[in-house]
Amino acid sequence: ELSKTIESIRKDFPLISGSNIAYLDNAATTQKPQAVLDAVNKYYQEMNANPFRGVYELSEIATESYENARKAVAQFIGAKDASQIVFTRNATESLNLIAYSYGMNFIKEGDEIVVSVMEHHSNFLPWKQVAEKCGAVLKQLTPDENGEITDKSLEVITDKTRLVAVTQVSNVLGRVNDIKHIAEVAHAHGAVIVADGAQSVPHMPVNVTDLDVDFLVFSGHKMLAPMGIGALYGKKDILDKMPPFLSGGEMIEIVHWDRVKYAEVPHKFEAGTVNTGGAVGLHAAIDYINNVGFDTIMAQERKLTKIAVDAINDMKGVNLIGSSKAEDHEGIVTFTIDGVHPHDVASILDSQHIAVRAGHHCAQPLMDFLKVNSTTRASFAFYNTEEEVQHFIEELSKIRGLMGYGD
Ligand code: PMP
Repeated sequence: ELSKTIESIRKDFPLISGSNIAYLDNAATTQKPQAVLDAVNKYYQEMNANPFRGVYELSEIATESYENARKAVAQFIGAKDASQIVFTRNATESLNLIAYSYGMNFIKEGDEIVVSVMEHHSNFLPWKQVAEKCGAVLKQLTPDENGEITDKSLEVITDKTRLVAVTQVSNVLGRVNDIKHIAEVAHAHGAVIVADGAQSVPHMPVNVTDLDVDFLVFSGHKMLAPMGIGALYGKKDILDKMPPFLSGGEMIEIVHWDRVKYAEVPHKFEAGTVNTGGAVGLHAAIDYINNVGFDTIMAQERKLTKIAVDAINDMKGVNLIGSSKAEDHEGIVTFTIDGVHPHDVASILDSQHIAVRAGHHCAQPLMDFLKVNSTTRASFAFYNTEEEVQHFIEELSKIRGLMGYGD
């Protein structure tokens, strides 16, 4: 019954239904359903104007579309109020906003910033810069050998810690970190927590109020929406006390030569003309995901993950990165092949119309920690099929032979 649903779901995605590519690079970006493409098109064909600027009807419609998208995001991630959602370009910009506005102003010399070793460069480099600028100490939160953040790992958080930056799902290990627990520990020491939801928000229900995170970020393009729209969630009292990140139009209430009053959040953080088309696309993506439902999404992604993990565990010379258990991989399966460079692996798979990612996945500190130079990653979305994963597994199992390894 599920596979029937998936068959009909695939018809909604013009790029994949019209091609023979097994697209297994969904952690990098997802394909877009027709409903999202239509919503963006309709916005530009029927509603486009610069929001917030005009008193005329079109501008008001544009404003309303944009603000409705904000409400949809707030509801989707369980924020208490839409004003806690700031639209950005992507997770990276959201993290930089927090680092520049919160980090650079509230972190002082001698404070400690704790960042996990599995962070994407986007949730590592901004904190490294804050530490360098503010004279703070950057400390590494290290998982155990299976990639699990344990209570022992969390001992790195002390009363000197002012901020903890950690991803909810690693884009390499695919493991879900217990953000609610990490938030509790951070708060017990008086630190704020910044959660990277880039790989979690698209794949599982995330509720920022329940998690009690201070900040959470994600990108629209990894969850069926267009590129160029992302979001930042923040607790209201913290957002209120943060100074603007970028300055310019639409983020002010009053500007005189000698006196400026900034707008309230979220507009204080949205300088310049905003990406209304992108926000409308994200709204349509959220509607689409809600319509399919996380039960279906997670069931399919977990089924595919289990097929891949079980097969790789049985494959000689192919090494799974992270836990050997399928349930520890949220749609992300990263591996190395003895004697074969990941770029060759990806090229060979590409020749069989299978799209996977090879490289360091913007997580070089994690590669160092794992003592690998680079890896290959397959990442699944709910529109992927068992046949695609079987095809991937079959071609994967041939690679060592193709490269001249006899066993
Ligand atoms: N964090 C994680 C965990 C990611 O996987 C990614 C994208 N690979 C990012 C942050 C950055 O996302 P973006 O490039 O959309 O800003």
